[in-house]
Amino acid sequence: MVNGKGKIVIVGGVAAGGSAAAKARRVNEAAEIVVFEKGGYVSFANCGLPYHIGGQIKDRDELFLVTPERFWERFRVNVRTNCEVVSLDRTRHTVRVYDLNQDREYEESYDKLILAPGARPTRLPVPGTDLEGIFTLWSVPDMDAILRYIQVQRPERALVVGAGFVGLEMVEALLDRGCKVALVEALPQVLPVLDEEMTLPLARHLEELGVDVLLETRVERFEPCQGLGGAREPSDRARVGSAVLDDGTVLPCELVILAVGVRPNTDLARAAEIALGEHGGILVNSKMQTSDPDIYAAGDVVESKHWITGQRVWAPLAGPANKQGRVAGANAALALLGVKDESLYLHFQGTLGTTIIKVGKMTAAKTGLSEREARRAGLRYYVSYTPSPDHATYYPGAEIMMIKTLFSRDDSRVLGAQIVGTKGVDKRIDVLATAIRAQFTAEDLEQLDLAYAPPYSSAKDPVIMAGMVGANIARGDMEVITPGELRDWLRAAGVFKSDQNRQQVNAESLPQIVDVRTPDEYRHGNIPGSVNIPLEHLRERLGELDPNQPTVVYCLIGYRAYLAYRILKQHGFKSIKNLSGGMRAWSMRLKDK
Ligand code: FAD
Repeated sequence: MVNGKGKIVIVGGVAAGGSAAAKARRVNEAAEIVVFEKGGYVSFANCGLPYHIGGQIKDRDELFLVTPERFWERFRVNVRTNCEVVSLDRTRHTVRVYDLNQDREYEESYDKLILAPGARPTRLPVPGTDLEGIFTLWSVPDMDAILRYIQVQRPERALVVGAGFVGLEMVEALLDRGCKVALVEALPQVLPVLDEEMTLPLARHLEELGVDVLLETRVERFEPCQGLGGAREPSDRARVGSAVLDDGTVLPCELVILAVGVRPNTDLARAAEIALGEHGGILVNSKMQTSDPDIYAAGDVVESKHWITGQRVWAPLAGPANKQGRVAGANAALALLGVKDESLYLHFQGTLGTTIIKVGKMTAAKTGLSEREARRAGLRYYVSYTPSPDHATYYPGAEIMMIKTLFSRDDSRVLGAQIVGTKGVDKRIDVLATAIRAQFTAEDLEQLDLAYAPPYSSAKDPVIMAGMVGANIARGDMEVITPGELRDWLRAAGVFKSDQNRQQVNAESLPQIVDVRTPDEYRHGNIPGSVNIPLEHLRERLGELDPNQPTVVYCLIGYRAYLAYRILKQHGFKSIKNLSGGMRAWSMRLKDK
């Protein structure tokens, strides 16, 4: 190995593997670079697969970003598709390859190896998953098979099992293909990366789209259809006809998508005794080096450091995969060149798990920690809900988005944000992701200087509003209570029990709850046990309230209640809390019915 010569072998040629190969070449012109890809395609857009099934991406070729020929012409990278690496000998620095094209096995040596074999979908461990018409979606052949089945069999009723990202994207794709869709999810919510209450508008919207959303439900088995069951084309395998659920319901369906999760593809690494982490992914350092210094790994197969907690997480997402591949490729190439200067090596500094998804007309997004994750990490945090319009309400078409922000109780640093809405969610989540990366506090957020004109935003952008509310809380201008905390309080006092038990409500343990909206708003829905004193009359009607009793004030979004809070505070009320996000957060409705 002289002047950077030597061989870099890469296993897997899509997001991480493709990035690794291109970067390695940019760093080291002398190295031989070989990519083995088990499938027939390299660097394809797996994130685009549901959108080709749904018909938004009309031309299948759009999914193929780079061909093996292009890799050779531009990068002199030797891509061998339909070649699966089946084993790895670390002592001899070789991999064994099964070449599907020629049905033969051979050995390939390496100086540096990069493992980028991604993840694979989990099968649902119930009887009947081998019936025809039941699919997972992870690769181009999966997509082709689903599309062909739809085109040939024209299924009317589809079932999607699992309400994560791929499941929800497939629900939409199948609706677009004209299917009646049912969605079954074992957990009590859709999109489990978000906190439960933030997913309520999504579940509601899915129902508006005609989806049968069945939460806390499991499929027990799949049954074949009787006879041809309306099949347009005969087949040797029995076709799926229904799913039997754990409550005994029989759900007729001619097409099933299993989207119950994925796991890291670590067979090679495990067999070669490369160290794995507690989430089942390969352990790497920030240079993407595994426990074997000549072997790097990147993408869905590795565990990453969470940028906030420093803990290991498994975040199978395209952004980190591309960045990690770039780091692994650069470092493998630099190592081949014999570079000693450590400052020239690249490092992957961690992930925030920033994600976004379109569900019908809605968008949901998350960055940093959810409340569940913050609790698990043992962090001290506070929460604010800020419902804000995506642009000035006097300019037509403004829509409310709900932002849930987590701030550190120690220094008011932003720890995480979740947004659900119809417009403008993408830009706000990216501002918040950047803010977290810059270690911004609530006070920094409220000072941001963001672009404003009525069609795009408000003078107080939703992110700035989140910062202002967060900073008010941090400065002690206002104490808040979240809908979840108030619900727990009322539940403990017996408010939500059945009517006959309601006599046993423990009134003394209840706060006085003051709704400061107009009587008309109050009539259209309010919190059990609340009294209505509109903000404009509060000063005159203070005598109706007990300043020594804990008091919760609320309005529609939290602003009028903040004004009420300040009035009560200055009139000597001892313990006041503003319901964060008001009735919008309480009901998690972004629109009034
Ligand atoms: P992959 O891109 O999966 O590539 C791994 C490759 O390795 C595969 O092609 C596989 O055939 C090959 N391979 C495996 N084992 C071997 C072997 N032994 N020998 C040779 N080759 C092997 N992420 C987002 O951030 N946003 C999205 O919107 C999004 N949508 C998605 C939608 C779908 C339908 C899917 C499937 C994924 C989506 N993802 C999304 C996830 C994202 O695609 C992955 O995080 C990313 O592709 C991971 O990159 P990777 O290189 O680690 O693995």
